[in-house]
Amino acid sequence: MVVDPVCKKEVDEKTALGGKARFWGKVFFFCDKKCRATFQRDPQKFVSKEDAEKEPGYDPRMFIGDM
Ligand SMILES: [Zn+2]
Repeated sequence: MVVDPVCKKEVDEKTALGGKARFWGKVFFFCDKKCRATFQRDPQKFVSKEDAEKEPGYDPRMFIGDM
């Protein structure tokens, strides 16, 4: 299980209804499309740079992308 960064609910990666989005090289999963849209409007509100930098896949050039 992972945590939806927007509403902080637990989401199963395999069945995430909101799909997933990539930000700074990390993949996030969402409980529904509304959460994903909220995240994609302003991802930096939900992910701190310090946390992102700890991720092995961190890449600031990879700002955001649909998956
Ligand atoms: Zn959510």
